[in-house]
Amino acid sequence: MYAVLFAALMMAGCADSTGKTGKNEIKNVILMIGDGMGPAHVYAGFTAYGAPLNIMKSPFIGLTKTNSANKYTTDSAASGTAIATGKKTYNGAIGVGPDTVPVNSVLQYALDNGYAAGVVATSELTHATPAAFYAHVPDRNMGEAIAADLTRCGLNVAIGGGRNHFERRSDGANYADTLRNQGYEVVYTLDELKTKGRDHTVALLADGHMPSMLGGRGDMLAKATETALNILEQSSEKGFFLMVEGSQIDFEAHANNAPGIAAEVIDFDQAIGVAQKYADTHPGTLVVVCADHETGGMTLLGGDLDEKQFDARFSTDYHTGVFIPLYAYGAGAEAFAGVYENTGIFERIMSALQLKK
Ligand code: MG
Ligand code: ZN
Repeated sequence: MYAVLFAALMMAGCADSTGKTGKNEIKNVILMIGDGMGPAHVYAGFTAYGAPLNIMKSPFIGLTKTNSANKYTTDSAASGTAIATGKKTYNGAIGVGPDTVPVNSVLQYALDNGYAAGVVATSELTHATPAAFYAHVPDRNMGEAIAADLTRCGLNVAIGGGRNHFERRSDGANYADTLRNQGYEVVYTLDELKTKGRDHTVALLADGHMPSMLGGRGDMLAKATETALNILEQSSEKGFFLMVEGSQIDFEAHANNAPGIAAEVIDFDQAIGVAQKYADTHPGTLVVVCADHETGGMTLLGGDLDEKQFDARFSTDYHTGVFIPLYAYGAGAEAFAGVYENTGIFERIMSALQLKK
């Protein structure tokens, strides 16, 4: 009888007046962006892997619209900005609106409200997608200004490539030193990251982008995701926001390289597995896997699941304007079902972490 009473009290305690689960149970959000990752990319990865992907465990699926403020077909800067800030902007814009005025990102709102925050990418850290979460520049090609913005945003951990934009700059400045002077640990290898990583770490693991999977990147993304989670959970009692990008699905799709796409999707899915496992063992963790747009107009005309083979075709070497699936897992995942603008990802994460603009 006590057990029944206790269960009833627990239920009453967790439900608000609408009978829905209270939002205040969400503590951590892991946002995973597969750059250029449409449904065919995921299905190619699944076929090549020969077994269900982690992404397929997600119980709630959404579809997001990706059109930018000035183009039917978005680029990663405009859609990264829409996802990060809730603001539609022009192609090429990083963390600024159509008027080039800076717009706060969910990462910045999280930091301002006592959450820890970080970014992980397999591209340069200064590339469009991660940059949209911490930088404010009118043009995505301003990599050096984007690196400077990283030193101003106060994030707890950043792991990716892009060392040149910090240390080998046209203005002669050294922003790795700037970070060190602020108390950051700056590391250059995964091993160093493992031994020295702590609250306030920036890992610059390549001069430019990381190598591709087919070029030998190995399990950097899963390892970096695991390390970032370890750092973030020690950085704030309140919780954290982490953005993890599978950056190079897009690169391989621009090249219409089907085996490369499958390899990048499988690698990204390994990192998704790390995030889901974290959510399983840390109640109150939400994992949202989305994409910024589709790349390649990819489709699969045929294949063989037993042989792990597929026949991929492409209609472009650029992006397309189609709906992008979103896959949600863990605490509060149900809020991500439905069809909505990519700016709705920002709104839902803000709401999950009880952040206000
Ligand atoms: Mg990207
Ligand atoms: Zn692209």
